[in-house]
Amino acid sequence: MTRDTRYDCLFEPVQIGPVTARNRFYQVPHCNGMGRVYPSTMAEMRRTKAEGGWAVICTEEVEIHSSSEHAPWSGGRLWDDRDMPVLARMCDGIHEFGSLAGVELNHAGLMAANRYSRDVPMAPSHCPVALPDPVQARAMDKSDIRDLRRWHREAALRARRTGFDIVYVYAGHQLSTISHFLSRRHNHRSDEYGGSLENRARLLCEVLEDTREAVGERCAVALRFAVEELLGSGGMTSEGEGRDLVEMLAELPDLWDVNLSGWENDSATSRFKPQGFQDDYVAFVKTVTSKPVVGVGRYTSPDAMVSLVKGGKLDFIGAARPSIADPFLPAKIEEGRIDEIRECIGCNICVSGDNDSVPIRCTQNPTMGEEWRRGWHPERIAPRTANESFLIVGAGPAGLECALALGQRGYAVTLAEAGSEPGGRVARERRLPGLSEWGRVADYREYRIGQMVNVDFYLESRMDARSIAEFGADHVVLATGARWSADGKGRENPAGMEIAADARVLTPDDIMDGTPPPGGQLIVFDDDHYYMGAVIAEKLRRCGADVTYVTPATEVSSWTHNTLEQHAIQKRLLDLGVRIRTARNIAALRTGAADLECIYTGQVETLSCGAAVLVTMRRPVDDLYADLSGDGPGSLTRIGDCLAPGTIAAAVYGGHRFAREVGAPVDGNVPFRRECMALAGTM
Ligand code: ADP
Ligand code: SF4
Repeated sequence: MTRDTRYDCLFEPVQIGPVTARNRFYQVPHCNGMGRVYPSTMAEMRRTKAEGGWAVICTEEVEIHSSSEHAPWSGGRLWDDRDMPVLARMCDGIHEFGSLAGVELNHAGLMAANRYSRDVPMAPSHCPVALPDPVQARAMDKSDIRDLRRWHREAALRARRTGFDIVYVYAGHQLSTISHFLSRRHNHRSDEYGGSLENRARLLCEVLEDTREAVGERCAVALRFAVEELLGSGGMTSEGEGRDLVEMLAELPDLWDVNLSGWENDSATSRFKPQGFQDDYVAFVKTVTSKPVVGVGRYTSPDAMVSLVKGGKLDFIGAARPSIADPFLPAKIEEGRIDEIRECIGCNICVSGDNDSVPIRCTQNPTMGEEWRRGWHPERIAPRTANESFLIVGAGPAGLECALALGQRGYAVTLAEAGSEPGGRVARERRLPGLSEWGRVADYREYRIGQMVNVDFYLESRMDARSIAEFGADHVVLATGARWSADGKGRENPAGMEIAADARVLTPDDIMDGTPPPGGQLIVFDDDHYYMGAVIAEKLRRCGADVTYVTPATEVSSWTHNTLEQHAIQKRLLDLGVRIRTARNIAALRTGAADLECIYTGQVETLSCGAAVLVTMRRPVDDLYADLSGDGPGSLTRIGDCLAPGTIAAAVYGGHRFAREVGAPVDGNVPFRRECMALAGTM
């Protein structure tokens, strides 16, 4: 297949200072939880994107000096020459495919508590570090400013020697000392580095000029700048100082990489922001500079990309998440395979890996982060090892992914689903407020499976032990999912809770099935701490119910700090008028009332309660496993939530892993390649 000529403009080369990008697909800097700690894993992930057609591929933040380090987070590092080989491996992989490698040099100032180096953090003015460590940053004097310029210059020279083509000056996300100098909130200086915007931008200009002077002949100098902070007049705004700064420095960098700040605004989830949500803020940039501009907005639609380029809004389609969900997105557009694009669903599970300091994972792309350690390629999979057949029971995320990957291997696959539509939990959850994009998990796989002659997919086909045995497949895979429990068992109440016989108890499944809740006050009890409790509260409230959200945690949906959503979720419930009771367990559900117990004091208060929706834990639907175990000659395997309920990402991963590994048993105790540290010498 060849590409549709409508998309030709996306494949035009673009000059960036002294280097040329082969097309307009630009992977902006993004964290990945690997960095210097898992360097081979990181390098292969980036290399795979170059293979998939991204013309520019950047690092995550790369520390330039020990006075600004993010331990335990595992980003990049260029403190001295010994850090170069790790990043050189990444550059080599990117260059193999004719793409450009970019490095986001950074001194994080008051964002870094320096837990490892124990250096005192630095900032434009005295202030506590942004992270919750009991640490303050000290105000930088002129010699500190000279040092910072020197460190940045030396790191830029090192980056050039490492093989990078684009060297960043980073003033985005309020994550860098340079952006702290720009900020009126953080810069209270009275010297020539404080006060007017011109003064606050002095350090940025100096570092830009230093960098150009150091590496500008061979490397492009990019400026990443957040034009809008969504803080009103207290911060940068795209109609105020954000715009003024772009006008002031318009021709200084070789490329403008523009976005919103902070990170939670830049990487907003689909629950809160649609594709293209940054367009209106960054559109002015191209009108005030002749330099190329890159922007992001979770773009997965080639038509939207074309209209951005043709409409003169952007020169490059920037992407972090779309490139994670589909490293081959550009190649698929180029080859006329746009139906095969695995679209990002905007869930930010990828961000959670970085926040947990473990290799990145992705809901849509089970191979993300596994390119090196398990040798999984997003587009290639080993052919079948035997002429065998598979029956997969259940077409949720696990079953669908398993069928797709087994089908790609060439096995004969039958997928049987009891319900009338594919998707399992996502078929239901996509109808909850804000979660419609999650349906892409099912849509993508349903489409791909539909193209395969060796995969038969049957809806409305509930299987029981007899029909499975009669079917006679060589391998049976149970992907029958899980259901929410109604007994209150969970983290806070492992033995369950006291529930009166006539107390009205519902689960998220009941709400998703459309069971009408009774009148009176409803309690949503969230002992799960991810999205479900708050989203059920939101749905009920939007239907007009009087809702109180109760959780043993100290805030709403506490795990969603990892997906950058916690603040937005709590705000949404408050805006909707949902009452919130934190640090409360349910001691008892009685007729028409609930006893809430403070988790600290044990003090009990009683709330009137027409019904309680318990969001505590899920139970695997695994009765078929018990019925079938020991029967028949073939294998019997549980995958996804049927084995152990977890995230959608975990279910997709479980289905994919089974399909990859069947017929090729893993050798040894550790099922993947590890990056073992070598002991340092005595130097
Ligand atoms: P996972 O997240 O592990 O994929 P889901 O709960 O999303 O699990 O999906 C499980 C799917 O399995 C649901 O669509 C459900 O209708 C289906 N299912 C459960 N039991 C059977 C069965 N006996 N026969 C066929 N399909 C089943
Ligand atoms: Fe997109 Fe979710 Fe994958 Fe991140 S984890 S790239 S948000 S699908």
